[in-house]
Amino acid sequence: PPAAQLLDVRADFPLFAHRPELVFLDSAASSQKPAAVIQAMAEFYAHDYANIHRGAYRLSASATDRFEAVRDRAAQFFHAPSRDGVIFTRNATEAVNLVAHSWGQTHLSAGDVVLVSEMEHHANLVPWHLVTRQCGARVEAVAMTPDGRLDLDDYRRKLRELPVKIVALQHVSNALGTIHPAHELVELAHAQGLPILLDGAQGAPHLPLNLDELGADFYVLSAHKMLGPSGVGLLLARPEALRGLPPYQGGGDMIREVYPESSTYAPLPHLFEAGTPAIAEVIGFGAALDYLDGLGMARVEAHERALLDYALGRLEALEGLQLYGPSGPRCGVVSFNVAGAHAHDVAGFLDEANICVRAGHHCAQPLMRAFDVPSTVRASFSVYTTPADVDALADALGDIVQFFAEEP
Ligand code: PMP
Repeated sequence: PPAAQLLDVRADFPLFAHRPELVFLDSAASSQKPAAVIQAMAEFYAHDYANIHRGAYRLSASATDRFEAVRDRAAQFFHAPSRDGVIFTRNATEAVNLVAHSWGQTHLSAGDVVLVSEMEHHANLVPWHLVTRQCGARVEAVAMTPDGRLDLDDYRRKLRELPVKIVALQHVSNALGTIHPAHELVELAHAQGLPILLDGAQGAPHLPLNLDELGADFYVLSAHKMLGPSGVGLLLARPEALRGLPPYQGGGDMIREVYPESSTYAPLPHLFEAGTPAIAEVIGFGAALDYLDGLGMARVEAHERALLDYALGRLEALEGLQLYGPSGPRCGVVSFNVAGAHAHDVAGFLDEANICVRAGHHCAQPLMRAFDVPSTVRASFSVYTTPADVDALADALGDIVQFFAEEP
């Protein structure tokens, strides 16, 4: 790939200094962490740690300020409409559960439809199953095209013909890398007067985002997929979409006044943040956002696109390899199977060569069924992925394809 399009940041990631032999191609599951993120957390624990939002002493006040500063940083990074709609959760999964529970509980009733797609991660399906089962509503799915895009005609039809109350779709597919036309998805939902949640777990780490412009009512993501620590996610909501919703969980930090028999609640955003959060990890996430800002998300996107094109070129040349996913807009994910081999066996062979990939259904069983395969092997990229990583994968796959072609 053209060197001008590539980032050169490997040295920022200590894991690769400790494991120089490693070819890490599982960033869609979770990314590695730059030293800046690891240090921010270690220094906070070593020098500045205290619980937030309660202490009457300066150490706690300054920890609170640093935690709340990350809320502002996130609002700015994602161009969120307001800091009041920036809610810290444990991960993207919890953010979907929050919306499904708090919004669903107050807005869904028998016969209503939650419109998802066949391509969703289970995290954007199961929470909706739970809430619809309780109230007699149901979940319907937009179909996928044979090459792995959302079928927009089917989306339009279902929006028009079904009693849809809310739309919940992914921004980017974790199994195929497909980048869905987010603006169009939002516009079509809004044209029907419907709120829309976008699952950005695979969008936020790889694409520049302007949520104010995008207009999605709810956008969810996980820090651990975007160079930050595990244990932190975000619900980025338009504050008006949250207003009037009941809390998701109860406990400390989200209250105004509590009596033994009843309680009143804190305003946004604290209403949705019960209990002690992952304080140091949120601060580490702030460092990850600073790091990504330093690279520039447009350059992150270009780097991963250049690597994807290079990888597709090399893998398409291998006979006996079945590749899945569209030729259109796509993030750095390649999903494939080797003729005659189980995905887990292929991943096992690759691991022998120190190549880390994921094999399985990628928490997207409906999508696998639509492709009529039980599993695929998935290689996925991040800012630290290099052409040498892609070469190692393609070389090893060349041997594996040949091995299985010769199997009787
Ligand atoms: N949605 C998508 C598209 C994902 O890829 C993932 C993570 N694999 C999730 C949601 C859930 O993320 P988490 O497990 O961090 O909550």
